[in-house]
Amino acid sequence: MYDLIVIGAGPAGSAAAREAGRQGLKVLIIERAKFPRYKPCGGAFSEHAISYLDFDIPQHIIEKEIYGARVHFKGQVLERHKSYRIATIVTRSILDSFLLEKALETGPEARFGENVMDLRQDMTHVEVHTNKNTYKGKFIIIAEGAQGRFKYLVRRRDRKNEYGICIVTEIEATDEEINAFIQNAIDIHFGVAGMGYGWIFPKRGCFNVGIGGFAKYLDNPNKMMKDFLSANGFTGKYKMRGHVIPAGGIRRTLVKHRIVLTGDSAGFVDSFYGEGIAYAIRSGQIAAGIISDIINNDKDINSLKLYERECEKEFGHNLRYSLKLAKLMHYWPGVFLKIFTSNEEVLDKYLDVPCCKLSYKDFLKWLLPRIPGYLFKAG
Ligand SMILES: Cc1cc2nc3c(=O)[nH]c(=O)nc-3n(C[C@H](O)[C@H](O)[C@H](O)COP(=O)(O)OP(=O)(O)OC[C@H]3O[C@@H](n4cnc5c(N)ncnc54)[C@H](O)[C@@H]3O)c2cc1C
Repeated sequence: MYDLIVIGAGPAGSAAAREAGRQGLKVLIIERAKFPRYKPCGGAFSEHAISYLDFDIPQHIIEKEIYGARVHFKGQVLERHKSYRIATIVTRSILDSFLLEKALETGPEARFGENVMDLRQDMTHVEVHTNKNTYKGKFIIIAEGAQGRFKYLVRRRDRKNEYGICIVTEIEATDEEINAFIQNAIDIHFGVAGMGYGWIFPKRGCFNVGIGGFAKYLDNPNKMMKDFLSANGFTGKYKMRGHVIPAGGIRRTLVKHRIVLTGDSAGFVDSFYGEGIAYAIRSGQIAAGIISDIINNDKDINSLKLYERECEKEFGHNLRYSLKLAKLMHYWPGVFLKIFTSNEEVLDKYLDVPCCKLSYKDFLKWLLPRIPGYLFKAG
């Protein structure tokens, strides 16, 4: 009998396993892929995400250090840089393998290439059936990402306006080409994917290019991606990967008896910017901390419900306000996207959000009084 079984070894699963291992729990982490595994992602690993780690990220994992952003909307272009780093760009297969290695340092066992097929909960434990084995655990953390199905044991399915779709590709380029295109900044194009954006992120030896937006407003994401690529001079044949991304800021049930949802399974993604790694790491840590407290201090399992309150307290408001900002941008693009891409002070202020110096709520409180009312009628 394990104290804790973690399903999925992405950032949420690894963070949970590391924390539970540190607290002395007997932990098993089950991952269906063999690591390193490909993960569709922009690879923006923000200072916010890094701030949750109790170890350093080795320099070789950091492909670019990001200090600023260039934003586009209907021909308007604005670029701002900070004096401090706001994010790094990484390759997820490499980052996730490293995070998993750090988790295993604290003692968890791991099974790779095992697909969880079924979960059965009773009063005393949960049985986990994989394609190879059956395991028993006192608690289960579901960290299966956005496309898993076990989260539906706990919460309802998302509607089309509660999740997004992203298409991403990587395009080889020389360092000279990358540096000529952009220096230490990310390139964001609003207005190309309904209630979302297109991006061009500089990496080592390639550009990471993608589009993402709410499913409800993306009639033909593949076409949007092709149009975005050709509008930016990428005319070759590229391998494109599509993936679901949940929208954060929507109230969801996250705990059922002995099972907890973390990361993308819980829907913890910034609805405006699409950042999910930070919330995956933190939610994994919070879940493991609460489970450890229950086991180590012989507490009632109903204390697991604390998890929902803790997540809400720590970052729930940020996700909710990211959703509000995404909606404002969508309903009044002529106001919000224009100001975002023409007013240096606004972009400068926003860049403090991904590095956690400013909350979304404070950003909106600062922004709204600066927008003249008549623009809403015009926008
Ligand atoms: C195209 C795209 C671009 C993105 N760009 C960014 C970005 O630049 N920055 C950012 O912060 N966030 C970004 N995100 C969001 C980010 O990728 C996710 O929020 C993050 O990966 C969530 O981590 P996780 O651990 O919850 O899930 P995942 O990283 O998806 O990990 C889930 C793991 O569970 C395993 N698994 C699934 N089912 C099973 C099963 N049945 N049995 C065993 N194992 C299983 C999977 O193999 C996988 O390894 C992006 C998302 C997409 C789709």
